[in-house]
Amino acid sequence: MRLFAQLGWYFRREWRRYLGAVALLIIIAILQLIPPKVVGVIVDGVTEHHYTAQQVWMWVGLLVIVAVVTYLLRYVWRVWLFGASYQLAVELREDFYRQLSRQHPEFYLRHRTGDLMARATNDVDRVVFAAGEGVLTLVDSLVMGCVVLVVMSTQISWQLTLLSLLPMPIMALVIKRYGDQLHQRFKLAQAAFSALNDRTQESMTSIRMIKAFGLEDRQSALFASEAADTGAKNMRVARVDARFDPTIYIAIGMANMLAIGGGSWMVVNGSLTLGQLTSFAMYLGLMIWPMLALAWMFNIVERGSAAYSRIRDMLAEMPVVKDGSQSVPEGRGNLTIAIREFRYPQTEQPTLNNVSAVLNPGQMLGICGPTGAGKSTLLSLIQRHFDVTDGDIRFHEVPLPQLKLDAWRSRLAVVNQTPFLFSDSVASNIALGKPGATQEEIEHVARLASVHEDILRLPQGYATEVGERGVMLSGGQKQRISIARALLLNAEILILDDALSAVDGRTEHQILHNLRQWGEGRTVIISAHRLSALTEASEILVMQHGHIAQRGQHEQLSRQPGWYRDMYRYQQLEAALTDAPEEAIDA
Ligand code: ADP
Repeated sequence: MRLFAQLGWYFRREWRRYLGAVALLIIIAILQLIPPKVVGVIVDGVTEHHYTAQQVWMWVGLLVIVAVVTYLLRYVWRVWLFGASYQLAVELREDFYRQLSRQHPEFYLRHRTGDLMARATNDVDRVVFAAGEGVLTLVDSLVMGCVVLVVMSTQISWQLTLLSLLPMPIMALVIKRYGDQLHQRFKLAQAAFSALNDRTQESMTSIRMIKAFGLEDRQSALFASEAADTGAKNMRVARVDARFDPTIYIAIGMANMLAIGGGSWMVVNGSLTLGQLTSFAMYLGLMIWPMLALAWMFNIVERGSAAYSRIRDMLAEMPVVKDGSQSVPEGRGNLTIAIREFRYPQTEQPTLNNVSAVLNPGQMLGICGPTGAGKSTLLSLIQRHFDVTDGDIRFHEVPLPQLKLDAWRSRLAVVNQTPFLFSDSVASNIALGKPGATQEEIEHVARLASVHEDILRLPQGYATEVGERGVMLSGGQKQRISIARALLLNAEILILDDALSAVDGRTEHQILHNLRQWGEGRTVIISAHRLSALTEASEILVMQHGHIAQRGQHEQLSRQPGWYRDMYRYQQLEAALTDAPEEAIDA
């Protein structure tokens, strides 16, 4: 029942709709009291022979009118009440999505996609059901139940009413217990559903790899075990679920038994007429629905409450990175990196130590070093996925945490190691950050990224659909399309995080040459494994174990003993070996 308190903000805001629906429900409850009364009157009238056929038809006419009006009112409140609950679904999903888009990579390491999707769909549906159907059944059962009770006790006999209600408190306690059990079990069932969703999502996205490694059987077995676990947990919910109705029926049976027993005794005693007892039994019949509804309401609301707490857990998570309040100063500015120390949340060892650099507009910074040296970490600090623990990164001399996050990110264009393409046309993928871009603009950046010719060779050129995640394209083509996409943003700072790894040496050289021209007055930061990508850089940072082991320009570093010179020589040798046959063919 705590769900109603948790959703109080929504009920207060939408009070008009809810109040209107509740008022109609009350009117319907009152209208429903008319038929038993009328039937009682007819029975007494007919048994005592003082009603004409015409009078009986009049009463029947009244019953028909009541039925029609009830039908219409029921329609209207449904529209009001369920309209409000569907609106709640829209808002919860919007909040949820907004929350997801505010979060940073670290959040997505902790929460898996399948789980998040389960919460955004299945759990929201449960809450919405509780806010619609749950409210309806609560109001309907309470209003209807109370009105029937009042009529039974005032119109017929309060003693008989009291007698027949004796089983109810026990029933209420039992139902409450079931409700608590249902809450716990349903939460576990939803968590199991999330895990199943994760497994499904993972299997679908890695289907190529699964097939390549012949892991179908293993994957199917894993899936089957998740499905069985979810099934078992839902079965536990169903077991509690199944106890509600029989309990109610037992309580109603006992109430009927007490009513008929006590009522017959009163008829014999002369304190009740047969018609009144008939009416009383019918009123008691009217209590069946409110009581079943009350139990059902418990069921729905406990499920909704469990689901809502899963949604709220997500909504309550604060992003690790807080938004700043200052607008980003206009124009091109220096980027000053002065990190004394950075450690990831929940990590003991610092990942970066004493990393500093100053980048003037138009300069190109190269970053290299062995895997795990901290290159991606440095780039993600510049993008403010995390904040520097000790020291800072400044733009225009303003520390990044003081800048508005969206405004800062809009100054950056980032190409990651693993480019992501949407299942849309090539042109739309390039124009992702600038939907209104003209064909000329798109082709211009595609030329800069040396992918224009490749695109023309595709079946429908720029209009070719690339398939899910760009399955139609090679790794190098995807990388270059992502570069074109970033260039179209016309951002001030371009970050290439090993974005040329799948591109051959000559194309890489061409792209870098184009970038130098494009990037006049713009800052470019390139992290690369292949050092040939860094030859043009104004400064290269060689990172090792989280600190800068060497720094300087290519010429200088390739002569200085150290990791850079060794790696450069090794890569040159490798390139000579792999390029030689191609050149022989070309010749
Ligand atoms: P590089 O890009 O040079 O290969 P990274 O910046 O990815 O290196 O990683 C540097 C170090 O930080 C590694 O030891 C890695 O395990 C650690 N690391 C990376 N991401 C996280 C994270 N989210 N939480 C904790 N440690 C991390």
